[in-house]
Amino acid sequence: MGTDCLFCRIVAGEIPATIVRETATTVAFRDIDPKAPVHVLVIPKEHYADVATLAQGDPGLAGELLATAAVVAEEEGLLADGFRLMFNTGPYAGQEVFHVHAHLFGGAPLGPMLC
Ligand code: 5GP
Repeated sequence: MGTDCLFCRIVAGEIPATIVRETATTVAFRDIDPKAPVHVLVIPKEHYADVATLAQGDPGLAGELLATAAVVAEEEGLLADGFRLMFNTGPYAGQEVFHVHAHLFGGAPLGPMLC
């Protein structure tokens, strides 16, 4: 995707981000506008528009993304009290950046749902 995609530019190091974990295929970085005490975005380095496209196109990479999210949750101290992993997918869900990203929320009671 490249220069048109904000998160591809973060992967390329062209836009700064607070990266908390990087693997060969994924990057996790803090959301610029956090909605919880811990709010990390976990993305594949390769461009896929959303989680449905990713799961259909490369299920192994989808699993690697989930594994990275789980490690970050542990590193952020979220395993004992729990956390939320969320993929906004498409306009009805309010997806704004069309490079698939898991929102990892935690650090406080989150209520039944975040909108
Ligand atoms: P979406 O609504 O697409 O699921 O979420 C996009 C997320 O990306 C939002 O939570 C927003 O705060 C975050 N975001 C947008 N631009 C940037 C940026 O330049 N850097 C970082 N770290 N997060 C961003």
